[in-house]
Amino acid sequence: MSELAFEKSLKASRAFEIMLADIKKGLGHAYRIVCADSDLADSFCLLVAANAFCPNGGCLECVECRKVLHKTHADVLHFNLERTDIKKDDVLELISTVNMRGLSGRKIYVIHRADLMNATSQNKFLKTLEEPPENVTFLLQVENELGLLETVRSRCSAIFIDRVDEKEIYEELLNMGKDEHIAAVAAACSDGMPGKALAIAESQDYIAYYDAAASLLCRLNKSSDVVELSPAVQAMKDPNVFLDVLSIIVRDALVFKHDPNNTIAKALNADIGALSEKFSDRALAEILTQINAVRKKTSLNVNLQASIDNLLFCMLEVKHKWQ
Ligand SMILES: [Zn+2]
Repeated sequence: MSELAFEKSLKASRAFEIMLADIKKGLGHAYRIVCADSDLADSFCLLVAANAFCPNGGCLECVECRKVLHKTHADVLHFNLERTDIKKDDVLELISTVNMRGLSGRKIYVIHRADLMNATSQNKFLKTLEEPPENVTFLLQVENELGLLETVRSRCSAIFIDRVDEKEIYEELLNMGKDEHIAAVAAACSDGMPGKALAIAESQDYIAYYDAAASLLCRLNKSSDVVELSPAVQAMKDPNVFLDVLSIIVRDALVFKHDPNNTIAKALNADIGALSEKFSDRALAEILTQINAVRKKTSLNVNLQASIDNLLFCMLEVKHKWQ
């Protein structure tokens, strides 16, 4: 298995195709790598750097590639690995190294979460972006494009990395040795973001929320069930995460009804298959709307107990109304 997470989907992406063509004809000075998931963007930048330095066309196995993957390559410089705010002094420090010649004669700077650079820093950085030394390439990882000043944006070629198909995330997590149930839950709740999927797969709390939400939906049959189940939901450490998970399960049950061969839904079969039999399409769709309404309300700090009770009663009513 490759050391690089999501290698397969990244290599198949349009973004990589563009970068590979540029490596062949000579990398540009600056790119903004726009991606909702910083872990995925990070893998992408490592893949690009490995291809730029590898004597075998990006094998990911030779000494050069390994150094890039381990972030120890002398000419692949990482900046703001902690993904925190970037201040003026940090940028001045970066700029001071730009003119130093690299060992190989070429340097790649990976700037993590460049969108967290404050405006003063961006203005400081602008001159370097305008007149970078030869053979220096900046890869600016950006989650939110609005975080960059227009002047900075316009000096970087845009490379967009799409979200990953949930099925690929599921398979990659299995490759990493994750348990089937955990991989399926993490992929289903990932929004197509591998970094989020990994975090979920490593969080026992999240998996417990998922199992609790699936069990609640299965057990909800009569009014006395609401009285019994509601306190458990209210007692949860983070009821908002629980509601998020609940909405994902209802969405997947709805998907499963129309696409029973969907791989992830299949892996979640015990939960999702049972649910899609217990609830009609119409009931699932209405429940989804109600959960989303409560999610909005709980973020406004309304009475949690009343909201959860109310939600469970509404779900029960809808379930029986639309059999
Ligand atoms: Zn190599």
